[in-house]
Amino acid sequence: MALIVKKFGGTSVGNLAKIRNVANRVIKSYDQGNNVVVILSAMAGVTDGLIKLAKQITDTPQKRELDALMATGEQTTAALLAIILQSMGYKAQSLLGFQAEVRTDCAFGNARIIDIGANRIKTLLENRYIVVVAGFQGSDLEGNITTLGRGGSDTSAVAIAAALKADCCEIYTDVDGVYTADPNICKHARKLEKITFDEMLEMASLGAKVLQIRSVEFAKKYDVPVHVRSSFSEEEGTMVISEENGMERLIVTGVTYKKDEARITMKKVPDQPGIAAKIFTPIAGAGINVDMIIQNTRQGGQTDLTFTVPRDDFKHAMEIGRSVAKEISAEDVIGDDGIAKVSVTGVGMKNHSGVASKMFSTLASENINILLISTSEIRISCIVAEKHVELAVRALHTAFGLDKTE
Ligand code: ADP
Ligand code: ASP
Ligand code: MG
Repeated sequence: MALIVKKFGGTSVGNLAKIRNVANRVIKSYDQGNNVVVILSAMAGVTDGLIKLAKQITDTPQKRELDALMATGEQTTAALLAIILQSMGYKAQSLLGFQAEVRTDCAFGNARIIDIGANRIKTLLENRYIVVVAGFQGSDLEGNITTLGRGGSDTSAVAIAAALKADCCEIYTDVDGVYTADPNICKHARKLEKITFDEMLEMASLGAKVLQIRSVEFAKKYDVPVHVRSSFSEEEGTMVISEENGMERLIVTGVTYKKDEARITMKKVPDQPGIAAKIFTPIAGAGINVDMIIQNTRQGGQTDLTFTVPRDDFKHAMEIGRSVAKEISAEDVIGDDGIAKVSVTGVGMKNHSGVASKMFSTLASENINILLISTSEIRISCIVAEKHVELAVRALHTAFGLDKTE
């Protein structure tokens, strides 16, 4: 008998028929003698709809209340699945985040899991219940409802799997595994049989939303094997695992993109010690994550400074930028929220040169202008106009020899 955690994403629970399909898959595994814990997302589109409702009232709803609102999406699907399982004659119970003792910090909207008690889950499992847990949510030390950031049900699943020392965490979604690029925009993308935690971390952080990045961090830390697979077929998906000897070492293993970016440039900033701190301290203080930062060469004691932020934070970051610009006597602040980031990743890149030049010449041959560049040991990212990003993914996928051979 194994203990299996199964997580179903929004499209997999999009309506009652689909939740019945989930019930059937769960029962199949349970009837084989396994203990099963199910983690659910809200129905596809529900979280977005709830946020929209709140934003019809105000542009800046209080984050605590927004979390209380968003968490209802997962409450609905968890209860519905429990009702379906019970109506089929199975012992099942739904639990909200706090009932499953998912304790988090109080960073509403993006809370981090501190620990998971899971006592109630364990007792229910001992009594052969199928336990259905609402994903994406926990509660802070004061008992406030918190959410774990968009896509956070993946993290709920892996963290609960780690707390229960489950044999496997299965992530069921609308694609049948992790691909070399988003299969919905790159039809030549190839499904990977295996991917290492490190490669998956890199891809997730660069936009491959098939797994939320924090779920991969948990999986790596607690060595939880993760199986990404389709809700709608029985096919094996992709195993996300720790490094294995003899794993294929391609120079580039994936091409990813992120559309939710924005760029801000501060013009003619005085080139003096302490200026960067003056600009970025209030931005960090507002909880805004800056990604790339580029400072141009100095001209007459002044320099231009460009950085990127998540598009959701663009307006706020521009306001802060304008107020700092006045304070430090910078000339102007300009912004662009129509940009996107395209990246190539691969551990094999460490020992190879020429990847960057190949990336640049591929984009050039498609007439795509590069606005910013950043690199690490195992990735190269370019900022381009958003309208070009899908073409960029496809062109790079072909150029790096990743296209599947039919
Ligand atoms: P869920 O609602 O099940 O959590 P998500 O929409 O969060 O599903 O994640 C699945 C989506 O991730 C796919 O539909 C696909 O478009 C996207 N995706 C992006 N990059 C990749 C990739 N490299 N491999 C697989 N899917 C990817
Ligand atoms: N429902 C949440 C979201 O849409 C969490 C998730 O689906 O993982 O972000
Ligand atoms: Mg998701």
